[in-house]
Amino acid sequence: MAAYNEEKITSVTHWNDTLFSFTTTRDPSFRFRNGHFVMIGLEVDGKPLMRAYSVVSPSYEDHLEFLSIKVPDGPLTSRLQHVRVGDGLLVGQKATGTLVIDDLRAGRHLYCFSTGTGLAPFMSIIRDPDTYDRFEKVVLIHGVRLVSELAYGDYIKNELTAHEFLGEMVRDQLIYYPTVTREAFTHTGRLTTAIETGQLFKDIGLPALEAAHDRAMICGSPSMLKETAQMLDDRGFVISPGLGQPGDYVIERAFVER
Ligand SMILES: Cc1cc2nc3c(=O)[nH]c(=O)nc-3n(C[C@H](O)[C@H](O)[C@H](O)COP(=O)(O)OP(=O)(O)OC[C@H]3O[C@@H](n4cnc5c(N)ncnc54)[C@H](O)[C@@H]3O)c2cc1C
Repeated sequence: MAAYNEEKITSVTHWNDTLFSFTTTRDPSFRFRNGHFVMIGLEVDGKPLMRAYSVVSPSYEDHLEFLSIKVPDGPLTSRLQHVRVGDGLLVGQKATGTLVIDDLRAGRHLYCFSTGTGLAPFMSIIRDPDTYDRFEKVVLIHGVRLVSELAYGDYIKNELTAHEFLGEMVRDQLIYYPTVTREAFTHTGRLTTAIETGQLFKDIGLPALEAAHDRAMICGSPSMLKETAQMLDDRGFVISPGLGQPGDYVIERAFVER
């Protein structure tokens, strides 16, 4: 198993019966860029059972954090959801991905569109000071079915805004827009509807999406990804082809191409 580091689980949080997150130790040699994903997993029957996971924690932290779905009969997550503090976790030695701000052209406002566990890479991106250097406003949209799926919602609103180093940037520049489809909440409905009707922009007090100034990143369900990318294409946004070539928006290509 030379391609994996063996880390230890240091904390586990169960958000509800479909979603949990956990932190692990981090090998000092493990490098990644905010927005990247890495293969993680468990040894099952003497073999590594690995899946792609976006890294939630920013690259400057000395631990790693992941947000995970619990698929009842999923080969990995049916097991992973039972991990406890002190258990081992295999973490691939090489992180990669196309959801990185370096692949975006300069712009005014950055929109991070996510659903479900698609929030994960944006948790590292909204804790990267470079993100706030490059964009005047950073809008994080998280679409979920149930209020209990708004993982990290309280953390973003209460802790990140009070963070010793990031707090001021977050308070001035980050706009967090959670939206829920199956329960009553401050914002309800699908994020794609909020874009199409213009409700999103009314609610956050910014002009509607404009390819000349705005940039976007998308991560989430395949249907949301496809619809949101189409809306951006229709508005003249150009997707980054990846490989370090900049565009007006980026997606995680591994999601689409698997
Ligand atoms: C680039 C990339 C990054 C990923 N990042 C994450 C992440 O940060 N967190 C995470 O939980 N998963 C993530 N995934 C999905 C992850 O790799 C696994 O599919 C997931 O952990 C389930 O593994 P499994 O073996 O239990 O079931 P699998 O056999 O892998 O999946 C079973 C079924 O569950 C559904 N499913 C899988 N993952 C999800 C999900 N995240 N949300 C909703 N439905 C899902 C799909 O319908 C899938 O066919 C990512 C996938 C890719 C390609």
